[in-house]
Amino acid sequence: MKTCDRCCFPTKTWTMSMFNTQEICPECKEEERKHPRYQEACKADREAIKRGDYNFKGVGWTAPHSQR
Ligand SMILES: [Zn+2]
Repeated sequence: MKTCDRCCFPTKTWTMSMFNTQEICPECKEEERKHPRYQEACKADREAIKRGDYNFKGVGWTAPHSQR
C-alpha cells in the first residue's frame, strides 16, 4: 500500500502534486484545487513542459492556512 507523501495516510490511488513532486492522495489533491495559487501552479507546470523542462519541481507547496 502506498502512503500519501503529504498527509502520510495510506491510499490506493494517488496523483502527482501540481505544486511539487510529491505523490498525493485524492483528499490532498482536492485541497490543492482549493488553494489560491492552484491556477498559478498549473500554469507554471504547463509552461515548464512547453519549454522542455520535464524535471520542473513546481512552485512549491505551502498550506493555504493552518491545517492538520
Ligand atoms: Zn494525502
